[in-house]
Amino acid sequence: MGATSQVLIFNTGSSSLKFAVVDPSTGLDIVSGIGESLGSDEPALEWECRGVEQARKLASGSGHREVIELLVSDVLSELPDLRQRLVAVGHRVVHGGEHFANSVIIDQEVITTIDQCSALAPLHNPAALAGIRAAQAAFPELPQVAVFDTAFHQTLPEHAFLYALPFSLYRDHRIRRYGMHGTSHRFVSERAAMLLGKPLEETNTITAHLGNGASITAVKGGASVDTSMGMTPLEGLVMGTRCGDIDPGLLLHLVETLGVTAAELNRLLNRESGLLGISGLSNDCRELEQAVVDGHRGALLALEIFSYRLAKYIAAYRVPLRRVHALVFTGGIGENSSWIRARTMHWLGALSYELDSERNDKMRFGAEGAISREGTPTVLVIPTNEEWVIARDAAALVQGENR
Ligand code: AMP
Repeated sequence: MGATSQVLIFNTGSSSLKFAVVDPSTGLDIVSGIGESLGSDEPALEWECRGVEQARKLASGSGHREVIELLVSDVLSELPDLRQRLVAVGHRVVHGGEHFANSVIIDQEVITTIDQCSALAPLHNPAALAGIRAAQAAFPELPQVAVFDTAFHQTLPEHAFLYALPFSLYRDHRIRRYGMHGTSHRFVSERAAMLLGKPLEETNTITAHLGNGASITAVKGGASVDTSMGMTPLEGLVMGTRCGDIDPGLLLHLVETLGVTAAELNRLLNRESGLLGISGLSNDCRELEQAVVDGHRGALLALEIFSYRLAKYIAAYRVPLRRVHALVFTGGIGENSSWIRARTMHWLGALSYELDSERNDKMRFGAEGAISREGTPTVLVIPTNEEWVIARDAAALVQGENR
């Protein structure tokens, strides 16, 4: 495969479609863009090509297919030789259930299985399938590859993935912890081993992906051995609008005593909780940090609960790992919020973690490196790059080797 081979990447949401053309050997993109508000009255497409930003309104009701058609007719046509250099289309797929522990080339059987997994991700998997079908129609000459958020966590041992529920729920309905953000946890754990100068098989990391969605993973010798998201993305850490871990008994209370319906519960737990719910102000960490400066008590409380709960998970993940070579912060908050990192490390003082404040303050906007003091447990900030993982996997599969 030539050095200039490129992979077209699609990350399809129910009303959005992100795309990028990525060089699998460098991770750099030539084009990236997003179609948003798809299916609505005012869908729009924005993209950046070699540093130049462009935008286009789409006809009312336009969906994934129209975005891909415009991508072909308007965006890719600006780069005449690019289409010939594309070697594959890589799709991010949220849920692969227990069927996929690695990325795969998409055939009819894979499509059927992704469809079956829709029960576990009713918003995400059908959207990914819509993206796959539209991409197959627009690029019939290219192999399509699926990269699953859940795949990296298929190495979880039974004692980590089973809930303490009747075993029949797992046996008959596959109710278990699956974990998400696997592509990001995989990328930063591999990158951490490189930065530490250690073979991946001998490196243990705790990777904290902190964005609007947030999860944390214990990675032992390159394999996920525990993770905080569960059967759905609701479990685990406090997130932008999701509650993370709560007492399941309180759900019964809400239903039985307060008459809350299933639809209301869904909205409450997924969209009205987390940083937004506690602060009563915003799900956006940046906005909350500014509000703290302005004396907003709810914002301070939200960030403090976020950091405290995160620190407890980090401490707990020493159990499966025993020896931890590095704690890694990534995601929009992990890569940029010196405040959250400092408070989390404050809580971790009990485990001898110590922050180098000067380094911590500098580590943002794509910077990479250590924020811990010399001689104390290593803490790294590593910008994630899920697109690069998708591009690498797709290129490797096309070459006939599975990573
Ligand atoms: P993501 O979902 O990974 O895009 O991350 C989104 C989150 O990252 C939001 O809560 C943002 O407020 C947060 N974020 C991005 N930049 C900064 C920053 N400079 N300081 C604090 N939080 C940030």
